[in-house]
Amino acid sequence: MTDKATSDKQIMYRDARTTGKYDDIWQSTGKCVFCDLRDKYVIYEENGVVLTIVLFAYIDGHCMIIPRRHVRSVKELTPVEWETMRKMMYIAKKMIREIYGIKGMQIVQKDGAEAQSTVDHLHFHCIPFDEPDLNVWNYRQLKNTPIENTELYRSKITDIEKLAKRFSRKYQDESR
Ligand SMILES: [Zn+2]
Repeated sequence: MTDKATSDKQIMYRDARTTGKYDDIWQSTGKCVFCDLRDKYVIYEENGVVLTIVLFAYIDGHCMIIPRRHVRSVKELTPVEWETMRKMMYIAKKMIREIYGIKGMQIVQKDGAEAQSTVDHLHFHCIPFDEPDLNVWNYRQLKNTPIENTELYRSKITDIEKLAKRFSRKYQDESR
């Protein structure tokens, strides 16, 4: 690619979220983009976990933490991968402050098929948080009071305890 074409493409990525181009581009990619991460955007890697720049960023400095393995949920991470992701969150927050002068960071991870509309390869967005307007929450009208919601969860305590045991059995085997 010529330098001109390269820089045009970079500008297209930069502006895609605000021009609406992002939606067209996303439909046209057939494979898993996170299995095929491009090295030129990788910031740091350790233990099969990558800190990378986001191609279609919400804000300058927006990065992502992605395991190399195609897993869909945190429960599938090995203890080493999870510990490395925790380290990456620390690094991302420190560097966002260092480079962009922004002290806050919002971590976003979508779980479940309904939420993972674009890609189901586990990824954590690390989004510099300067002003709350960037990610607006549309709060719902609640049916329940806080104590009612607590009671709903607590009424299922037997199920919760079963899940806790099952998690330990299935996902906390250190030999994985
Ligand atoms: Zn993948």
